[in-house]
Amino acid sequence: MKILVLNCGSSSLKYQLIDMSNEEVLCVGLVERIGIEGSVLKQEKDGVEGKLIVEQPMKNHQDAIKLVLDAVVDSQYGGVKDIKEVEAVGHRVVHGGEKFAGSVLITDEVKAALEECIELAPLHNPANIMGIEACEAILPGVPMVGVFDTAFHQTMPKSSYLYGLPHELYTKYGVRRYGFHGTSHRYVSQRAAAMLGKNIEDCKIITCHLGNGASVAAIDGGKSVDTSMGFTPLEGLIMGTRCGDIDAAILPFLMEKEGLDAKGLSDLMNKKSGVYGMTGISSDFRDIEDAAAQNNELAQVALESYAKKVKKYIGSYAAEMNGVDAVVFTAGVGENGIGMRADIMANMDFLGMKLDEEANKVRGKERVISTEDSKVKILLIPTNEELMIARDTLELVK
Ligand code: ADP
Repeated sequence: MKILVLNCGSSSLKYQLIDMSNEEVLCVGLVERIGIEGSVLKQEKDGVEGKLIVEQPMKNHQDAIKLVLDAVVDSQYGGVKDIKEVEAVGHRVVHGGEKFAGSVLITDEVKAALEECIELAPLHNPANIMGIEACEAILPGVPMVGVFDTAFHQTMPKSSYLYGLPHELYTKYGVRRYGFHGTSHRYVSQRAAAMLGKNIEDCKIITCHLGNGASVAAIDGGKSVDTSMGFTPLEGLIMGTRCGDIDAAILPFLMEKEGLDAKGLSDLMNKKSGVYGMTGISSDFRDIEDAAAQNNELAQVALESYAKKVKKYIGSYAAEMNGVDAVVFTAGVGENGIGMRADIMANMDFLGMKLDEEANKVRGKERVISTEDSKVKILLIPTNEELMIARDTLELVK
């Protein structure tokens, strides 16, 4: 079965066409600037040089998806000859609230439930819904599956997901910790168990998804028992532009001092903070590393703070689970940041974690990067959320 995986953002759309008979990626693409001037689709196919580039106005997601469907049958860069070969569509959905603890076949009831989750993810869910509706219009009768970033973390116990706030804020508004990047944490934890040669039911794993957004998860017996992101993807680690955990009392203080309103505060914490805000240089770790190498003190401190924060979460999750078999690094920084991984794993031998400096000199490859005698295995595992979405889709439409 050939499955189209769609990840719709507010003005962008990422997609992959995957042949599930061998999990081969037939083509990969990105549409940008949907609904604004300069809309463009770019698609690549493994083994074929160059790119398909389609520059054409796209006023909404429906226009974009129509062009995606043309592109996937392109004779040079496409993955299929006839669109009828695409037998199912898997959609990434950011927020499933408490309604979805796993992936689901999309029905009218599911769509209604997604609408109810908009309040929780006003920036993301509307785009995901637009993508679903556009596919319904253009590919009538083709089954679709929703795969949620939050679903994997629905196994967290109340003691992990309730905040130290008045309980009625949870019952009235759903203010609780949800966690994100669930599809990635699930994928890499399954790969980690396979690399350890164990059943996931018998493993305690800490997964560090360190990308532009970043989160750590504690996975006991294949179930998420805690994670660093919370009600929104702001909580937890220091990220590219997000502040992560801070003393909440800073907010009313800044409202008064800087005259900020709710939107101003949200922008400050989500878009102007993190390593970007700390250094004033960039949200990209490569730029921060370059500046640190040239003795920029703020860049050096930002990298140290970032590493220390990840270290703290690893330590606390090891304590929470009463042990750990493997620590996994994934996503942009986790897969490529050789120095960052070394900083995070430095001086962790008390916890039985010893990084092998030579083995760690690798980017984007599945590999054990701990020493032979490290009690806890340290693993580098490139994430693959699209494959996970395609697998769930296959499972549900079969
Ligand atoms: P997203 O959350 O957008 O999916 P990614 O997982 O692609 O993010 O991670 C993007 C980040 O990965 C970039 O901002 C960059 O800081 C980091 N990154 C990519 N390549 C490297 C590298 N070679 N060294 C260090 N960091 C890197």
